[in-house]
Amino acid sequence: MKKIILTGDRPTGRLHLGHYVGSLKRRVELQNSGEFDKVFIMIADAQALTDNADNPEKIRQNIIEVALDYLSCGLDPAKSTIFIQSQIAELCELTFYYMNLVTVSRLQRNPTVKAEIQMRNFETSIPVGFFTYPISQASDITAFKATTVPAGEDQEPMIEQTREIVRKFNSIYGETLVEPEILLPGNSACLRLPGTDGKAKMSKSLGNCIYLSDTEEEVRKKVMGMFTDPGHIKVEDPGKIEGNTVFTYLDAFCRPEHFAGYLPDYSGLDELKDHYRRGGLGDVKVKKFLNSILQEELEPIRQRRKEFEKDIPGVYNMLKEGTETARKVAARTLDEVRSAMKINYFDDHELIASQSDRFSR
Ligand code: ATP
Ligand code: MG
Repeated sequence: MKKIILTGDRPTGRLHLGHYVGSLKRRVELQNSGEFDKVFIMIADAQALTDNADNPEKIRQNIIEVALDYLSCGLDPAKSTIFIQSQIAELCELTFYYMNLVTVSRLQRNPTVKAEIQMRNFETSIPVGFFTYPISQASDITAFKATTVPAGEDQEPMIEQTREIVRKFNSIYGETLVEPEILLPGNSACLRLPGTDGKAKMSKSLGNCIYLSDTEEEVRKKVMGMFTDPGHIKVEDPGKIEGNTVFTYLDAFCRPEHFAGYLPDYSGLDELKDHYRRGGLGDVKVKKFLNSILQEELEPIRQRRKEFEKDIPGVYNMLKEGTETARKVAARTLDEVRSAMKINYFDDHELIASQSDRFSR
């Protein structure tokens, strides 16, 4: 069986460090590994509209931002097909058929959607499209016969929902769709990177992000203002590592060689943590260290972004070509789905012959 990747992001804002460690960095590595037959990267604008129906301009403006973030992180259109979801009508048709395979109570149990409904104060007014987006996500994944979905932990329930739809579809209509697997970040700090405010998840909608396209100064300010241990007031005070965002980010980004470059007095992260726990290590020193590491990671991304920003029509053209390629693949899967469901009446010569028999008797 072919190994195929499908993953993507909602164009609700520029991409941030959570996207980077949760999925984007991995995608680039997988793209370059040569292990995959195909890589599809989707800008999920239709999904973004499910909770932004009143603000389509936001989505429209952010498509190019996400595309620029992709290119500057190293996604390469020669190796990965980058496309825009809403331009592939086939995905909607798949969703319409899959909806019949999922119950309302099953959707209500999706913990990510539950949390998002709460966060958006949707309790009494959930848009139907938002409530059903896990089904539309199943269409996105299965349309490309994806085997592998590199994503953050919040996506686990979506992949499980997709797998259930695939099993149900195949058991009713015959083996047609492929069950995908989620590929989570190997490093546990990257599963769900917290926001700079210490909240559970860095998220565009919560305004607690360090963006890949933030300037050096913006990143520095955000790092220096980050949530740490509120009980660690004086340098001499013992500090807590658990729930301390600066240390979570160090877990996500710090590599042994960073110590040699920026903090040669320490042998590694464990020693730094021990010192903080004991007391005598100030937040400012740790934050400065984190800032140096982040700047080193982000500077080449910023530089590449500047280059791509010089040819915006070229970026739209890349998206158009990617979308055309992706649409052909989705159309092929939709044909197979229709045949499996036997709703391909005009191509079903057997059906036409048998009906003709029936009426001539
Ligand atoms: P929104 O608030 O509009 O939902 P978001 O910041 O949650 O935006 P998405 O576009 O929903 O971003 O997520 C895209 C991908 O990035 C998913 O694979 C998701 O798991 C991953 N991701 C998003 N935020 C984080 C995070 N803080 N830590 C790890 N992975 C993340
Ligand atoms: Mg999200």
